[in-house]
Amino acid sequence: MKPERVLIVGGGIGGLTAALALGRAGYRVAVYEQAPEFSEIGAGIMLTPNATRVLRHLGLEAALDRAALRPSASVYRRFDDASVIGDAPLAEAMETAYGAPYFHIHRSDLLDVLLAAVRAQGAAELSAGRMARDCSQEGGEVTVQFRNGDAAVGDLLLACDGIRSTLRGRLLAGAEPRFRGQVAWRSLVPADGLPERVTARESVVWIGRDRHIVQYVLRGGSLVNYVAIAVQDRWTGEGWTRPAKRSELRAGFAGWHEDVQSLLEATPAGALYKWGLFDRDPLEQWVYGRIALLGDAAHPMLPFMAQGSAMAIEDAVILARCVEAYDDLEVALSRYQAVRRERTARVILQSRAQTSLYQRLSGDKKRQRAASTDWVYGFDATNCAI
Ligand SMILES: Cc1cc2nc3c(=O)[nH]c(=O)nc-3n(C[C@H](O)[C@H](O)[C@H](O)COP(=O)(O)OP(=O)(O)OC[C@H]3O[C@@H](n4cnc5c(N)ncnc54)[C@H](O)[C@@H]3O)c2cc1C
Repeated sequence: MKPERVLIVGGGIGGLTAALALGRAGYRVAVYEQAPEFSEIGAGIMLTPNATRVLRHLGLEAALDRAALRPSASVYRRFDDASVIGDAPLAEAMETAYGAPYFHIHRSDLLDVLLAAVRAQGAAELSAGRMARDCSQEGGEVTVQFRNGDAAVGDLLLACDGIRSTLRGRLLAGAEPRFRGQVAWRSLVPADGLPERVTARESVVWIGRDRHIVQYVLRGGSLVNYVAIAVQDRWTGEGWTRPAKRSELRAGFAGWHEDVQSLLEATPAGALYKWGLFDRDPLEQWVYGRIALLGDAAHPMLPFMAQGSAMAIEDAVILARCVEAYDDLEVALSRYQAVRRERTARVILQSRAQTSLYQRLSGDKKRQRAASTDWVYGFDATNCAI
């Protein structure tokens, strides 16, 4: 039986891509987002060809071309003298090798592109300020209970509620996400007046010992996004993100090149956040009858391959294809899980293995090998066997 009403909990990149892919296949969808509005954090994101191929397939190419930027190259620089210790072309090279672009985009711009497409499709009901607290299923019906006491009923439920997924916690007993000994400071800085090395249309990784910085421009070059990552023994306290002070960066990145100092010093007051980096071990099962996890709820990973959103985007299109292809909904969901299991597990484990790749000055060969990720970028979720 085909679903008549799909419930999606979580209106992030995974949830909205799933809404779009299912809407295109003709299904009615309801998306419930806990935040007061559908929004993303103020940070950039790298979209690799395996993700952009899917977004193109969903009809978003023109909108993305307007909102995103195609970096010319990926450049690795030494932390102290800015000398180049490795580089690789991106813009044309990615199109040639994989037939899809490599983008840098502001997360809220990506979310806006997805939201506009979902709205234009007219197949989804979008509700913000709805925090799911539990879910259940019986006799072919799934129910989501919300914090405010309301409930929603449908015939398929997708839990797209991120790394700390409440619904995952209801479905399977298991450990909390594990802190992996790294913290990330993230901010967006106006590009005006910053040195050319940090405002070039490149993806730059500044490599030091036990720490590195990834930086690139967004919004036509008017903003510089940076993520400064460093080894840290413990992450204490509640939550996994919190406001941070520039003095922490000053101390942690003292002695780094003056261009890096200019970038960090230009961070606007109140615009610096610190994240503990967490992941979870790969799961064997994340589908339960008519309920499936998707994106970070199913397979959260460290950001060292820039693949978390890409995996959520791939999940979404494969899930929609399975629902279309198989009449029995439970068979469709178990096919979705089977198709995604090995690939997402491999990306989780490889992202973990690459933790220190950008935090040592030697090892450029290893970095080059890690960058030649045909198995990651070449994958076609729109056309793979399901
Ligand atoms: C430092 C860093 C850099 C990264 N860089 C990249 C990159 O360059 N490229 C890339 O592909 N990935 C990157 N990622 C990973 C990426 O951010 C995530 O994988 C991606 O956001 C996952 O999308 P999602 O929709 O599954 O989850 P989320 O983005 O976490 O969205 C979940 C949504 O569900 C909502 N929600 C949560 N609980 C509930 C509830 N109970 N009820 C209703 N709604 C709920 C949340 O408010 C949120 O809107 C990075 C991650 C980090 C930490």
